Amino acid sequence: MTPESKQLAANRQAFQRRLGEWFARSQRKLPWRTERSVYRTVVSELMLQQTQVATVLPYFERWMSRLPDFEALAAASEETVLKLWEGLGYYRRARFLHRLAREIIRLPALPRTAAEWRALPGIGDYTAAAIASIACGEAVACVDGNVVRILARLTADDTPFATSAAAVKRFTPLAEALLDECAPGRHNEAMMELGATLCTKRRPACTVCPVASLCAGRASPEIEAIPRIGRAKTEQREVRRAWVRRDGELLLHRIPKGSVRMAGLHELPTLEHLGRDAGTPAPDSLLTTRRRTITRYQITEKIHRLPPPKGPLAADLVWVAVDAIGQITLSGPHRRWVRELLAAGH
Ligand code: SF4
Repeated sequence: MTPESKQLAANRQAFQRRLGEWFARSQRKLPWRTERSVYRTVVSELMLQQTQVATVLPYFERWMSRLPDFEALAAASEETVLKLWEGLGYYRRARFLHRLAREIIRLPALPRTAAEWRALPGIGDYTAAAIASIACGEAVACVDGNVVRILARLTADDTPFATSAAAVKRFTPLAEALLDECAPGRHNEAMMELGATLCTKRRPACTVCPVASLCAGRASPEIEAIPRIGRAKTEQREVRRAWVRRDGELLLHRIPKGSVRMAGLHELPTLEHLGRDAGTPAPDSLLTTRRRTITRYQITEKIHRLPPPKGPLAADLVWVAVDAIGQITLSGPHRRWVRELLAAGH
């Protein structure tokens, strides 16, 4: 540990007290905090991976009203699970949650430790530590990008890291040294809350921060630049999609079961799904161009109007009545594009 880390660790009791008192006073009233259970913690942690709290809230409430416990989730169909997740993105999480519930109900007792949670589908180190500490009281520190940011700033550590994983590894010993072992769940939640509401990426609110007097980086004019983590190189991709209509119906591609990421979801088919060469659509067939970013890919999606394919359809292509599109599961961007193109009269 650096001299600043050792100094901070030596002040751990003051740090824990100030953080804990601030959290008791200022925490947001979130549904997985106001009513607690292992199941609610698990669902909230999976939903919150790479997703903002404000986005998760309505999904969480809807999910809980339909699938209130592990038994209900395990008994639900894949279609129900995906439909409830529709628009939240990163659909692999929904699949893992579904599989996890089916494994959990077969266990003689709920897992208690981070190591036991880590062995279940879709649960990484951070999520395992969050569930074990918050829902089961295990004294284990959670370290994600938010916590790295707080600890790097508290210790004025501007070491450049090639990856987030390298930064997590570096700051884990300090997170463990600071952990309040009498209330590990509350401590971890307070760290998450501090990173989400005060020690934010841009413009940290140092003047109202409860641990400002223990923060070595507070006075730095470069505080926003800490931590210094290299960005993964972005890659450009272009995808050409087809808008194919016939009487009251739209042609969609159903992602087949073998696909890990989005199996079971529907989307506008690519030209390759229709057996067409992606380089050949007529220039005047282009209806719209949309751009989006998925992980490190910046994707340009071009949607072309094409005539219905001749002959029998490939197995994963389906005609869906426009009136019934609300009943099937589309990924968020595809639902938006379909709604907009239909509204524009296409
Ligand atoms: S004082 Fe500022 S930089 Fe330091 S932990 Fe608080 S919000 Fe972050």
